[in-house]
Amino acid sequence: MKNIILIAPPAAGKGTQSLLIKDKYNMMHISTGDLLRVAKDEDSDTGRLIKSLMEEGKLVTDEIINDLLKNKLSETNNGFILDGYPRNIEQAKALDDMLESLDKKIDNVIVLDLPKEEALKRVCGRRLCTSCDAIYNIFEDSMKPKEEGICDSCGNALYQRTDDNEETFGTRFDTYLEKTAPLIDFYKDKGILEVVDSSINKEHTFNQIKEILDK
Ligand code: AMP
Repeated sequence: MKNIILIAPPAAGKGTQSLLIKDKYNMMHISTGDLLRVAKDEDSDTGRLIKSLMEEGKLVTDEIINDLLKNKLSETNNGFILDGYPRNIEQAKALDDMLESLDKKIDNVIVLDLPKEEALKRVCGRRLCTSCDAIYNIFEDSMKPKEEGICDSCGNALYQRTDDNEETFGTRFDTYLEKTAPLIDFYKDKGILEVVDSSINKEHTFNQIKEILDK
């Protein structure tokens, strides 16, 4: 079973593709954004720091995120999808160390390629279920919920992430270009990088990912 990393600008479909991969290949989905969305609500200095950094669209410190991830990685035994980690070169090096100590390795790093204007449109339309892990987009016919504000899968209410707005998007996208995009060369040099076009729809993106994973 494979271990993979998804790299993408905000709202390019990392979460959506992770769920499709998880269902088809029975791999564990590790979203550092999801881990942080839980940790930010803790009544502690760390919780408050995470909340303010996320709301500004900035990266949470490597120390906090590495600790959260280390615990999760040790629970994996059937292949995993890293969604949102690493976000910079330092994290990629920390990941190498963590994996080495667990006797694991990354098989594929998949970049979801999406132009900035399209990413902005998706960020503003994204809606998430308050109860299950379903993801919708009110601006895309194939991803709209059948009933406005209600999850198709479980019937619970949908919500919009507090960092899914035009202003925070600007910071998140700039952070992606400055800190995360250099990972593309880092993994290209290791010979495990693949780039897929994420601009058409989720099925088109997933078909390209399946080709990579089925190789
Ligand atoms: P995401 O759900 O992947 O879009 O992440 C949402 C936010 O969580 C990001 O804008 C960051 O503030 C924070 N975050 C997620 N993953 C990381 C990471 N690996 N390192 C630092 N911050 C992160």
